[in-house]
Amino acid sequence: MKASTQFEVLKWASLFLKEHHREPKIAELLLQHHMQVSRSNFYATMREPVPPVIIQKFKADIQKHARTGVPIQHLTGYESFYGHHFHVNEHVLIPRPETEEMVQHTIHVAKQHFAPNHITIVDIGTGSGAIACILALELPSATVYATDISIEALTVAQTNAEKLQAEVTFLHGDFLEPILSKHIHADIIVSNPPYIAKTEEVRLTDTVKNFDPSLALFADEEGLAAYRQIINNLPKVIKKDSTVVFEIGYDQGEVVTSLLRAVFPYVQAEIIQDINGKDRIVSAKLSG
Ligand code: SAM
Ligand code: GLN
Repeated sequence: MKASTQFEVLKWASLFLKEHHREPKIAELLLQHHMQVSRSNFYATMREPVPPVIIQKFKADIQKHARTGVPIQHLTGYESFYGHHFHVNEHVLIPRPETEEMVQHTIHVAKQHFAPNHITIVDIGTGSGAIACILALELPSATVYATDISIEALTVAQTNAEKLQAEVTFLHGDFLEPILSKHIHADIIVSNPPYIAKTEEVRLTDTVKNFDPSLALFADEEGLAAYRQIINNLPKVIKKDSTVVFEIGYDQGEVVTSLLRAVFPYVQAEIIQDINGKDRIVSAKLSG
């Protein structure tokens, strides 16, 4: 590659990615990362030369991404979520923008229905800790617990919580088990559990299926096993008038609602769509 101004380097990379059927926008994000500049400063220096050592590293990353589909977040080591940087690696799901919408909804529920009371929130299957950490930061009077069955994920989550100074108690175990055994009772239970059916794997991009942990993506019983297990344990861990907020797959709203109704006949559930108009959240008041 002869190119040496930022503009030329970027143009080469965008084209290269396009030719390999990858998202060209990745080039910009990755170059900003390698140059350690913000988005706004980046545009001001388009005609400046890029140091050869940066070009070399950047080019290697672009080629690796094009060849293998490795997510850019595994190359940079982080993803931004709700305005904060979360460290990620191969042991955790890269937190998704849809999940930011669920966090926003959960904050709204907490403020609307519970403020100014002290409340207890539990995040099940915390992964990078993204949901739990943001809730702890945004709702400082809440006590936040988070569980995961993956020790490696909990290590990542703990690192993120420490860096962000988010007060979260992380517990290791199977979905709600650690909450049950510690006799914790929650006002809000929130979870983005694994919900993809194994038969859907063929439809996922290589960036997702080869790099996000399978434990984070797939659930038995056509993707419903985690919801079923969590819902069956809910009666033992909730306070009176509590709310559960689940992230769901686009076609799981009705079935997750009926799983809830089987255990809580008077549940008041709503299915909420994401910014792309897809069903994405089931939010349910469990008594009343
Ligand atoms: N909460 C994170 C987020 O929204 O970005 C990660 C969600 S990821 C879809 C699901 C998480 O559930 C993974 O971190 C996985 O390790 C965890 N998990 C899978 N099976 C579990 C189980 N039986 N008990 C507890 N956690 C589990
Ligand atoms: N939303 C993720 C995806 O589409 C899946 C996360 C999950 O199974 N909870 O890849």
